[in-house]
Amino acid sequence: MTALVLAFAIGTSSGTPINVISTPHYDIVVEGMDRKEIAELVENLHATLKAFFHTEPQDRLSVRIFADQGSYTQAVGKLVAAAGGSSKEAELEEAGVGVYRLETKTAYARVTLPYGTRAAILHECTHQFQYLSCTHNQIPRSGYYCEGLAQHFSMSRRVNGSLQIGVGLGLEYTDAPGNAIRGFRERHASSFQALACDTLFPKDMEAYGEAWGLVSFLIEKHRREFDKWSALLDAQADPRAGWSEASGGLNDEQLSRDYVEWLEQHQENWLVVGGDWADTGDGTVSATPWPGNMGILVPKRDGTYLSAIVRMRGSAWAGVGVNYYGGNGIYTVVTPNGEVWSAGRRVDRVHVDSQRSFHIEAWKSDGRVAVYIDRALVMSVPAQDAGKMALLVERGNADFSKMDAR
Ligand SMILES: [Zn+2]
Repeated sequence: MTALVLAFAIGTSSGTPINVISTPHYDIVVEGMDRKEIAELVENLHATLKAFFHTEPQDRLSVRIFADQGSYTQAVGKLVAAAGGSSKEAELEEAGVGVYRLETKTAYARVTLPYGTRAAILHECTHQFQYLSCTHNQIPRSGYYCEGLAQHFSMSRRVNGSLQIGVGLGLEYTDAPGNAIRGFRERHASSFQALACDTLFPKDMEAYGEAWGLVSFLIEKHRREFDKWSALLDAQADPRAGWSEASGGLNDEQLSRDYVEWLEQHQENWLVVGGDWADTGDGTVSATPWPGNMGILVPKRDGTYLSAIVRMRGSAWAGVGVNYYGGNGIYTVVTPNGEVWSAGRRVDRVHVDSQRSFHIEAWKSDGRVAVYIDRALVMSVPAQDAGKMALLVERGNADFSKMDAR
């Protein structure tokens, strides 16, 4: 959906222009982010949520995006204090990337890296939409349910140029499926009922992964039960009573087994260690590291081989790392003009075609790790010097396609 956007600039804070935007459903005050991008993002989410909940908020929705952590922290601290919140609550909120405040009915988020910013806005705007259309702006008593819904709709990917929301994971930097399976075993004794009836509020990434798993699994596999459960929870049902009424004929042992199987099918092949990586939905993964920093991705399974086609965007550098924790930081970098640098010195030159794409592989065998670029050996190090193998990008952006780890 293309949003009609009315926008004007109202001033600056720390040099970043602040824009006020009106879209069909939202009033947005934004700094540090493209106006068109935020307008399309929230209107796309609105359409997705309206189709999902079969209802929508009566009033226009308010969103505030901050350019940096400083302005976000200050604003959120003031909001918590004005609402009579404790200093501990203020501290917790200030450290976050986004929040929906009931008293102002506004979703707040701060700009970080592209995928992270998008996920934070989608997460908070999902709370806002749900609370204003389904719960009379009250928080349901199951934190796993609320956070799970927000996490479910915070996942997005581009498919043939259009952004799809809540369609399941591609590559996702919080490792929700990994956290979901660990939490399920360690915190809920592998019982789906125990997870669905948990009355605690999720407080760490493992719990957020569990919340995502709980909600996404029910939406995908047991939509009828999910709808009943969600209606009860929206009406302030106790989580235990709500689950026992909604789960009806579902047997906990069978359900728990199905859930673990579903989580295993959803495990990602790669784990994000640093930077911002996102599945573009067309078979490639794109990475944006912090300026002057690196984005690092490691095979999630204990890989002895990794392979990737790398296409660099702009004047980026890209490389494959074989040693990123401790050790000597040995890694190979390919510059846009095809120079290969290894452990800080130029070792080779590879052909880089007009698309600037090349094939990187790393093999671990016979006690050594060997790195190949376009089938040519560019580096071989003793395996004990090579920690986990990693793909990295440095100082720019890169697209990785056909990534494989075995
Ligand atoms: Zn949340």
